[in-house]
Amino acid sequence: MVSKRVVNQKKRENKMRYGKGHNRFLDNDVPKYEFPEGKMEPRAAYQLIHDELNLDGNPDLNLATFVTTWMEPEADQLIMENLHKNFIDHFEYPQVKEIEERIVNIMANIYNVPDKDDFIGTSTIGSSEAIMLGLLAHKWNWRQKRLKENKPADKPNIVFGGDTHVSWDKFARYFDVEPRIVPIARDHFTIEPEDVKKMIDENTIAVGVVLGTTFTGEFDPVFEINQMLVDLKKTKGLDIPIHVDAASAGFITPFYEPDFKWDFRLEQVKSINTSGHKFGLVYPGLGWLIFRNEHLLPEELKFYVNYLGDEMPTYTLNFSEGSSMVVAQYYNILRLGKKGYGEIVSKMMNNANYLAKKLTESGEFEVINGAKHIPVVTFKLKNVESSKAFDLSYRIRERGWIVPAYSLPPNAQDTTIMRVVVRENFTADMVDIFVEDILNAKKSITNMISGGKQTDPRKGHPVS
Ligand SMILES: *Cc1c(COP(=O)(O)O)cnc(C)c1O
Repeated sequence: MVSKRVVNQKKRENKMRYGKGHNRFLDNDVPKYEFPEGKMEPRAAYQLIHDELNLDGNPDLNLATFVTTWMEPEADQLIMENLHKNFIDHFEYPQVKEIEERIVNIMANIYNVPDKDDFIGTSTIGSSEAIMLGLLAHKWNWRQKRLKENKPADKPNIVFGGDTHVSWDKFARYFDVEPRIVPIARDHFTIEPEDVKKMIDENTIAVGVVLGTTFTGEFDPVFEINQMLVDLKKTKGLDIPIHVDAASAGFITPFYEPDFKWDFRLEQVKSINTSGHKFGLVYPGLGWLIFRNEHLLPEELKFYVNYLGDEMPTYTLNFSEGSSMVVAQYYNILRLGKKGYGEIVSKMMNNANYLAKKLTESGEFEVINGAKHIPVVTFKLKNVESSKAFDLSYRIRERGWIVPAYSLPPNAQDTTIMRVVVRENFTADMVDIFVEDILNAKKSITNMISGGKQTDPRKGHPVS
C-alpha cells in the first residue's frame, strides 16, 4: 500500500537514471512514477528490474520470517507449470480443485476431526484470510442463534490474547466485532484461562488461541482454555467456540508432538487455520482453514460456481488466485509424508536448541524461549539495556543477517527482545557463524556505548 505522500517523502529522483552506456541494453532514462510512453526491449526490462531487486535482503539469511524461502527443483517446476491457471476456474481446471479437496481431507485428518465424513475446509491465500473466514462464520452462527432466541444481536465481541498476530485485530475492526484483548502473563508471555473467562459473556462469538505466538513462539494453554469452556458450557449454558490460530504450529505439532492435544480432539475447538507457506514448506501465499463440522460454515456464506454441470461452493474473500501453491503443497505432502516432515521438524528443532544453548553459554544473552514447541528462539540482551537490541539488529544486518528486535505486548512492554526463526536451511554450521557475528556486533555496540559515542535509535523491523 502506497500513497502519493509516501512516495514524495522518499524525495527520490523521478527517473531511473542508468547513465548512458552503463547498462548495455538501455540508453534512455525510464520514468519511475509515470506510465512509460514507449516500449523497451525484454532484455533491458529484465536487467533493469533484476539489478534493482538485488538491493533486497538475501531470503536465506532472513531469520525474521516464518515464510518458506526454498523448495526443491521439482516443486519449482510444478509451480512454473501451473502459474497460468486461475485457481477459481474450477470448470477449466477441475484437477487442481481435486487436489485442493484431497489436501483439505488430509489436513482434517491430521487435525483429528471426530467424524471423517463431516467437516469442511478450504485453501486460502494465507492464515490471515483463513482467520477472517473462520471468525466470520463464528460471528454469523452467533447472530443466527441470538436471533432465534429473540435476543439482541448487535454487540458481538471476540476474546483473544495480546499475544496474537495483527490479523486478529484486523478481523475485529474490518468486521465490526468488539475485540476483548486478554493481557499476557508477565512471566510467560501467553494468556491464562482465568483471564479469558472474565472477558466472556453471551455476546462472545469465539475465543482465539494461538500456537505458537508471533512474539515468542510459545503456545497459549489450549487444553486448559478448552477445559474452562467445557465447564462454562455445563454450568452456564454458554457454548463458545475456540478458533485455533496454528499458523506456525499447524505443520509442526502433528509430526513433532503427535500426542499433544490441541486440535479437534478438544471439544470446543471448532476451527483451525495454518499457513502452508510457513512450516507447510511452500512459498507464499497459501493457507488452510478447517471447520470441525460442515454445519459450522453457514450456507449463506457459501457462493456457488458452476463446475462441470455441478454447483461447487466457494468460501473466499478474493476471487482469482494462482494454482501453483496448492499444487506445491501437494508435492510436499506426497514427497515428504509424515516421515519427511517429521525429520525436517526434528532437524530444525535440534538446530534451534543448539542456537539457544550457544546464546546462553556466551553469557551475553538471556534466552526467553528456546524452541519448546516450534523452532523459534527469542532472547534479550544481557549486561546492557534490552532496548539496545534495536542497534544490534541494525548492526548484524551488515553481515546480511535479518533479525528483528521488538517490544513485547502490554504487561511486558518494557522488554525488547530479538527473534530467530530456525528454518530448514539454517544449519548448525550457520548457527556457529551467526553466533560469532552477533557476539562481534554486540561487542562493537557496547564499545560505542562505553566510548561515549551515541548510536542512532533505530526502529525495529515489524513483526511478520
Ligand atoms: C504468520 C501468522 C499469521 C498470519 O499469517 P499469514 O499466512 O502471513 O497471513 C497469523 N497468526 C500467526 C500466529 C502467525 O504466525
